[in-house]
Amino acid sequence: MINRLFISDLHLCAERPEITRLFLHFLSDFAVKAQELYILGDLFEAWLGDDTEDELSNNIVSALRQLSNQGTAIAFMHGNRDFLLGSRFAKLTGCTLINDPTLIHIDNIPVLLSHGDQLCIDDVDYQAFRKQVRNPMFQEAFLSLPMQERINQARGYRELSKQSTEMKTEDIMDVNSEAVDQIMGQYQAQHLIHGHTHRPAIHQLSAPQSQRLVLGDWGTNGSVLIHNNKIGFQLHWFSQDTLPTLDQLLA
Ligand code: MN
Repeated sequence: MINRLFISDLHLCAERPEITRLFLHFLSDFAVKAQELYILGDLFEAWLGDDTEDELSNNIVSALRQLSNQGTAIAFMHGNRDFLLGSRFAKLTGCTLINDPTLIHIDNIPVLLSHGDQLCIDDVDYQAFRKQVRNPMFQEAFLSLPMQERINQARGYRELSKQSTEMKTEDIMDVNSEAVDQIMGQYQAQHLIHGHTHRPAIHQLSAPQSQRLVLGDWGTNGSVLIHNNKIGFQLHWFSQDTLPTLDQLLA
């Protein structure tokens, strides 16, 4: 039986070490029993290049490396905060970088994976910003700056984004249902799995047996979407104290 895990939006940062602790616990005691782990973006609160050398990134790199050495295949998709994560990180950890979106097949069912930010098309300012920073020439120029300069510029972007987010309505920052229909039609997907919006839920769509599965962000609790052919898709939450093993959870 293949156990697949889907997570996103951990927003790991030095300021919230408890989330990093929970994630390390999740990798060593839970994900180790899964065949596949999909990280669908925003693992890090910020990633300013694979030449990052700090305690947080070193701990995460070695924990992911240990998991992949133990036999769990790890796929990593960029989010809007860690889109500069690159091939050096992938090589060090054993992760496979996957595009946004990526179509996979689970028991012959086409399932589309996305971070989700590109589906929030009502947020026009954000989409313009996204287009700018996803440009390879912009990225190359940014990554060639000294690290301290990248840190300063990223702080400026975050401040701007915080100010504009405060003025936006909740709806604008959710996925647009026409964009969801459009991308699912384009890829002939039966299910869509995404994160980004921090609104975990399993939505039934109008097409029969079609679902939009939204991953949860991590805070006091971690969140994971699990799939195997016995249980189908299930969303679970856990804390440091309540994290079961995958075997216990599936029993
Ligand atoms: Mn995001």
